[in-house]
Amino acid sequence: MPELPEVEVVRRGLERWVAHRTVADTEVLHPRAVRRHLAGADDFAHRLKGHRVGMPSRRGKYLWLPLEDTDQSVLAHLGMSGQLLVQPHTAPDEKHLRIRVRFADALDTELRFVDQRTFGGLSLHDNTPDGLPDVIAHIARDPLDPLFDDEAFHQALRRKRTTIKRALLDQSLISGVGNIYADEALWRARLHYERPTATLTRPRSQELLGHVRDVMNAALAVGGTSFDSLYVNVNGESGYFDRSLDAYGREGLPCKRCGTPMRRRPWMNRSSYFCPKCQRAPRVSS
Ligand SMILES: [Zn+2]
Repeated sequence: MPELPEVEVVRRGLERWVAHRTVADTEVLHPRAVRRHLAGADDFAHRLKGHRVGMPSRRGKYLWLPLEDTDQSVLAHLGMSGQLLVQPHTAPDEKHLRIRVRFADALDTELRFVDQRTFGGLSLHDNTPDGLPDVIAHIARDPLDPLFDDEAFHQALRRKRTTIKRALLDQSLISGVGNIYADEALWRARLHYERPTATLTRPRSQELLGHVRDVMNAALAVGGTSFDSLYVNVNGESGYFDRSLDAYGREGLPCKRCGTPMRRRPWMNRSSYFCPKCQRAPRVSS
């Protein structure tokens, strides 16, 4: 599953290569890729035809293309393996090409949705008054959004009877933070993932938010440098994952701060990686 920085890299690619272009036609090569559009593939294609694509937008890990002169947007579900590619018309079809969008201009590129497992897809939705596809109206702003409200986030942490990693992954509180970036930010903040949120002081929650933003911006910087071609790609991987992780995936390796072997614990069907010395488990209280 791609995380926020990867999705933002794709959004920037779409902004550069797809924004302001008018859809000529849409070819659905596999009906499963538009299954969320209940009226079917022909209706989906018909509704896009002739509309200009507005500014590609993102909230958390959700990415959409507004259709100008409508109150609708095309929402991209990237799933586990979905990719949005901008390719020359002459490029051979990818083996798992599911949807092709051609544009009514002289540029020699088209937009392709490629998905090996077809868990993802594209769907058309009405916009909320804020310009969000209605199906994601409940998704909170992400920490890179200039309108994210740090104080409201802190107050929500204080009110909730939950633990910090659960809160970081709660898309109704803060969006776009996945398992990897949560572990990275918690390691930087020296917070154990089971820490009750009600115990966080304002400076601590502010510091944590700062670390969340830092790890995301660092990943974006890497993605941003590798993205300078026609190829817009999302597959949940970026050079950042190989080079710069301090916590995630480092079980048994020395903590980069204190040298203590890092640990991994099962956590909500996933894993949490942490340093047992820098990130002390909270005392159990009843
Ligand atoms: Zn440590």
